[in-house]
Amino acid sequence: MAIKKGDTIQVRGGKDRGKTGKVLNVAKDRSTVLVEGINLYVKHAKPKRQGEKGQKITLPRSIALSRVNLFCSACGRGVRVGIQMEGGQKVRQCKRCKAVL
Ligand SMILES: [Zn+2]
Repeated sequence: MAIKKGDTIQVRGGKDRGKTGKVLNVAKDRSTVLVEGINLYVKHAKPKRQGEKGQKITLPRSIALSRVNLFCSACGRGVRVGIQMEGGQKVRQCKRCKAVL
């Protein structure tokens, strides 16, 4: 699993292609990620009490992991990552500029 919660990713395709956002959650079992500001949809909430107005809430919907790339700040774009061993620990490395992410 290359992408973790809190990472910044870039979307590879679809209507949000090229956008970047922070990973809010990763669903490993479904291979999807929930990303802040990506794949937004508007939820229409009904008024809970009389006299209250209904609301429109904009929420992100999760997208497939295969549709995102980890964002490399050195490259300024989403990149493919490789796993390297460094000091006995696995680190993620940008395949383009070799920076540790
Ligand atoms: Zn890079």
